[in-house]
Amino acid sequence: MPDSLAARTATAPAPAGPFVRPPNLYVSTHPAVQHKLALLRTESTEPKKFRELVREISWLVGYEALADAKIEPIEVRTPLETTPGARLADRIGLIPILRAGLGMVDAMLELMPTAEVWHLGLFRDERTLRPVEYYNKLPDTATVDVCLILDPMLATGGSATAAIEVLKHWGARRIKLLNLIAAPEGVTAVSTAHPDVPIYCAALDRQLNEKGYILPGLGDAGDRQFGTGKNG
Ligand code: URA
Repeated sequence: MPDSLAARTATAPAPAGPFVRPPNLYVSTHPAVQHKLALLRTESTEPKKFRELVREISWLVGYEALADAKIEPIEVRTPLETTPGARLADRIGLIPILRAGLGMVDAMLELMPTAEVWHLGLFRDERTLRPVEYYNKLPDTATVDVCLILDPMLATGGSATAAIEVLKHWGARRIKLLNLIAAPEGVTAVSTAHPDVPIYCAALDRQLNEKGYILPGLGDAGDRQFGTGKNG
């Protein structure tokens, strides 16, 4: 089930109590992120500009999320002399959650040009609470050191939790979640199920509404990127 459909059909979980901010949550405080986020939220921002902003904010938050990526020393020959340099040593896998996560991929490839992109389409069966894959292009065994799950909106946390389960089962050891906007309900769901997975986002919003949309949020991130739905 695409994320937009999940948002429309989800029954937002009632908050179990006051939100306790988990230690694995990182919310960017960078002024450039805050500026771009306000434009992203604005209802009149058209899809072309919206896509640009998704890309720019993803780059900035991704930059913070990958600050601990491993490097290895290399020797670089400048036109003048030889000097020590570095190159990325971690093999990084980008896992965009279809479809809204696709808009975050290019930014992350600019940041980490050697990253591999693995597509994952899934939804959570509300009866069994197990992740159901409808599309999976992961190889048989884990081929990367760090998996970065890309999804603009962390709403109920259903897709993110399911993706993390699939990746852990695949053999991924280091997993990070990259969102643009997170709801407290989604943060609690992910950090309770997977306290070892850090969550990086540009904003922590107030709550979910009864349809599973984040408030104040930005509406449907897929529709707003791709010009579909009533936002398009
Ligand atoms: N998915 C979206 O695109 N928007 C929300 O507010 C929640 C989930």
